[in-house]
Amino acid sequence: MKILVVGGGGREHAIIKSLKKSPRVTEIYAAPGNGGIAADAICTGIGAKDLAGITTFAKDNAIDFAVVAPDDPLVLGAVDLLEEAGIACFGPNKAAAILEGSKVFSKDLMKKYHIPTAEYRVFDNMDEALDYLKTAPIPTVVKADGLALGKGVTVAMTRQEAVAAVRACMEDKIFGESGSHIVIEEFLTGPEVSVLSFTDGKVVVPMVSSMDHKRIGDGDTGPNTGGMGTIAPNPYYTEDVAKVCMETIFLPTMRAMNQEGLMLTEKGPKVIEYNCRFGDPETQVVLPLLESDLLTIMEATAKGTLSETPVQFSDKSACCLVLASQGYPKSYETGYPITIPADLDAQVFVAGAKLEEGVLKTSGGRVLGVTAVGDTLQEAIDKAYREGAKVTFENAYYRKDIGARALRAKEEVK
Ligand code: AMP
Repeated sequence: MKILVVGGGGREHAIIKSLKKSPRVTEIYAAPGNGGIAADAICTGIGAKDLAGITTFAKDNAIDFAVVAPDDPLVLGAVDLLEEAGIACFGPNKAAAILEGSKVFSKDLMKKYHIPTAEYRVFDNMDEALDYLKTAPIPTVVKADGLALGKGVTVAMTRQEAVAAVRACMEDKIFGESGSHIVIEEFLTGPEVSVLSFTDGKVVVPMVSSMDHKRIGDGDTGPNTGGMGTIAPNPYYTEDVAKVCMETIFLPTMRAMNQEGLMLTEKGPKVIEYNCRFGDPETQVVLPLLESDLLTIMEATAKGTLSETPVQFSDKSACCLVLASQGYPKSYETGYPITIPADLDAQVFVAGAKLEEGVLKTSGGRVLGVTAVGDTLQEAIDKAYREGAKVTFENAYYRKDIGARALRAKEEVK
């Protein structure tokens, strides 16, 4: 089968490597792909948001199955267009993707169906939002309604920060139209868990849980990033918690979602946000633990036969260490050659790199993820660091404590 994967980051590289294991896959194309993905798929260079270009390419090249991975094309309706053109697709259609595309929509949906989430208020007028902030409980969280490249959320520890976030969204319009409506919500405390799920609208099949490390610095300090590393499974996601989540969150939300972030508060698990796709870098630890055939699962998700399809994860652990360019998430230099030993005992998922005359060079902030699998979490972490040290480029930066919180959690939840 000829497969087209839309996107060009570490998540897409992980999906492509996983799909390659399927005996039915003959060719994989990526739109656009990147310099590292080029080792595993044919990169078309077509932008992930160029829906017309993607659809034409899929038709002209007789693509049998398409996987739309990033949020932007999903929210723009890539799946609808591809399906109209007769191409089977993995990913939610435009109507379902609004679950991620609009925070106001997802909060209102949760309220209507009594799905546990942070208390919130919606504003489309700045003066009213600023007025509310005069007495709102602090810390508080300000969220732009629409997609904002993962940057639309401000966890404000002070009233001033909250006011600045509201002004940035609604006055300076730093996220464009995405910030013309905002959600101001209750600050939740407790450990955070990510659970990706497959759903065909009839059943929900959760994948192995994971934990992201969003801050740039060790000990969860400094600004937020796209993710500096992940581990799976997440020790806080015990069987009891999983049961509560299935009953109070997954099943009630089933028709609209296949991925979400949860927060385990003292009052039980609450939804922080929905994703309607594979999250990154969670995917980079989840898929290496998948033992079943990803293509078969994706097809079953699209066809509505998920309940008859085996979805088996290994009981091992995985750790993904992200190697970034020094300076990220602020300014950084690129163009440095990357060395990846051929006999590495880990998988490398490339996010920000391009090929220049056959040489792989850094081109982004988060350059690549090194994922190791081990019998225990400690083994996976040790291996990710050992093998990660063999992948080199000038000015590389990585956190030294990926998985440390999860190891402590294992002691706490014993
Ligand atoms: P998001 O982009 O929605 O994933 O939000 C980014 C991060 O902000 C989340 O991963 C959480 O760590 C944090 N966050 C979002 N909403 C809340 C909340 N209501 N309370 C505390 N932290 C939050």
